[in-house]
Amino acid sequence: MENTFGINILPHNDQERVKALKRYKILDTPPEGAFDNVARLATQIFNVPISLISLVDLEQVYFKANIGMGKARTTDRGVSLCSLAVMQEGVTVFENASEEPCLLANPNVAGEFGLKFYAGAPITTFDGFRIGTLCVIDKTSRVFDENSRKIMESLAKIVMDEIELRLAAIEEIAKQQDLNEETEAANEKLQSTIEELVTTKQEVETLNGELAANNQEIVAANEELKQIQESLIESNTKLQESEELKNIAIEQAELGIWYIDASTREFIPSKRLKEFFGYFDHEIMAYDAAINHIREDFREKVANAVEQAIQTGKAYDIEYPIITHRDKQQRWLRATGKLNPAANGKNSYLSGTIMDVTERKEDDQRKNDFISMVSHELKTPLTSMKGYIQMLKSRATTSEDKFAVGILDKANKQSKKMSAIINGFLDMKRIETGKIQIDRQVFDLAELVKESEEESRATISSHEIVFAPVGKTMVEADRDKIGQVITNLISNSVKYSPAGSTINVACVNNDNMARVSVKDQGMGISKENQSHLFDRFYRVESEEMDNISGFGIGLYICDEIIHMHHGEIWVESELGKGSTFHFTIPI
Ligand code: ADP
Repeated sequence: MENTFGINILPHNDQERVKALKRYKILDTPPEGAFDNVARLATQIFNVPISLISLVDLEQVYFKANIGMGKARTTDRGVSLCSLAVMQEGVTVFENASEEPCLLANPNVAGEFGLKFYAGAPITTFDGFRIGTLCVIDKTSRVFDENSRKIMESLAKIVMDEIELRLAAIEEIAKQQDLNEETEAANEKLQSTIEELVTTKQEVETLNGELAANNQEIVAANEELKQIQESLIESNTKLQESEELKNIAIEQAELGIWYIDASTREFIPSKRLKEFFGYFDHEIMAYDAAINHIREDFREKVANAVEQAIQTGKAYDIEYPIITHRDKQQRWLRATGKLNPAANGKNSYLSGTIMDVTERKEDDQRKNDFISMVSHELKTPLTSMKGYIQMLKSRATTSEDKFAVGILDKANKQSKKMSAIINGFLDMKRIETGKIQIDRQVFDLAELVKESEEESRATISSHEIVFAPVGKTMVEADRDKIGQVITNLISNSVKYSPAGSTINVACVNNDNMARVSVKDQGMGISKENQSHLFDRFYRVESEEMDNISGFGIGLYICDEIIHMHHGEIWVESELGKGSTFHFTIPI
């Protein structure tokens, strides 16, 4: 680089030089007291108006101190004498610039300023770079001796020392600042860590609080669970106990149990039940098979009872004989069944028990056989006896022996009672063996009721029997047997109600059926007993019954007779208040 006037102002090492200058971080910085002082000292020492501390950058010259040259802070490197001064090691001096041909074009020299004297000592770094100058300037020419040069060099050294000091200070400050910043950052970090810790602590505390609350809840829930568990265990034990008891009861009672799903008709028989039917436990016994083992004459009745129970929920309790699976033995069973309505997502199902009653039935059978044999044997002598009584009575009537007539009447009544009993037994036997016969004839039921009225008036004096008027009611039935049923119901009412009480007999028509009713004000029958009343040999067991004799076959026979006529027989009764027996037969 040359200056504007053709002088080389660029040192060979300018790049490194500028780099060295930049190390000191001083370019383009405001004036500082220390530098001003040196410059001012130079003006005083040399008695000049101007002194500058210039720093020579790549394009510009910066005045770090400026004494006496206005407010200028920089100038072009090209016009600056200082850029010349850094070119050589020693002090550059122009004692009279106007006489220096190379400076004649310099605006400072030639221009308004009119520079005449210039002396500049380079400011040299410890490693030999001339980064600027300390110079003194005057507008008049002067002489500058060797001693002055040395002073200038010393002052330039002081400036360099100041620059070094300044840098050290700057670095120290920077370091401090860094340190401060680091500390600050560390502090900030610490602060945020502390804040984090505080928040964490608070969170932990709230969590802890929540945990504690949760814990309490868990403890309470646990306690509740424990109680529930305990009561479950307790009820389970109770259930097990009652289940065991039930099983023991079933075992001891030798009960077979079974179950039929009302909708799928799935049939589940117990092991004991299978045994009754002659099956092994591992063998499948379907419902149809069970029904087919029932003796033919009972089969329909049982199947109907099961079907009825499923359809109407009506419980049943029936006895029937079966023929067992392999050995074809007859066995009597008593079966109960009851519908359990659908619940808890389970279909409604019919379940019940089956008990082997063969032994009792066989006993009954022997008893029956004996009774019927005796009855049969009694029947002939009784018939003869009745004949003799009749003969005697007609004799006594002729001879007007009133006493004998009276006695023979009583004997006749008693023999009639006796033959009724015997006939009952014989009827029972006939029913059992299917030998009972219905002799149908068309007759007026009203007339039959009238006959019963007359008969009871003649034979019963202990009760007031009231017959309601009956309209003509033509039926086709066995006249004697229907009469037998009416007589039986009236005599039961007499038997089971107190002397002097009223008995009402009525016969009405309803829905093509004639209905006969016998109502008393007697002891009545409990609901439980009502369902068995029509069973053979069934008698209510009570203290009141102790003094009333009977065999428990009257209602059984009535039931059979009415059913043979496709009618119904039933009782309405309340214990202690009286009973009304009804039967219907088709008109
Ligand atoms: P019996 O009268 O010979 O005992 P039944 O078959 O005629 O036999 O009657 C069966 C049972 O029904 C009787 O033992 C009695 O307990 C009861 N019973 C029948 N009729 C009446 C009635 N009118 N009032 C109360 N109980 C009756």
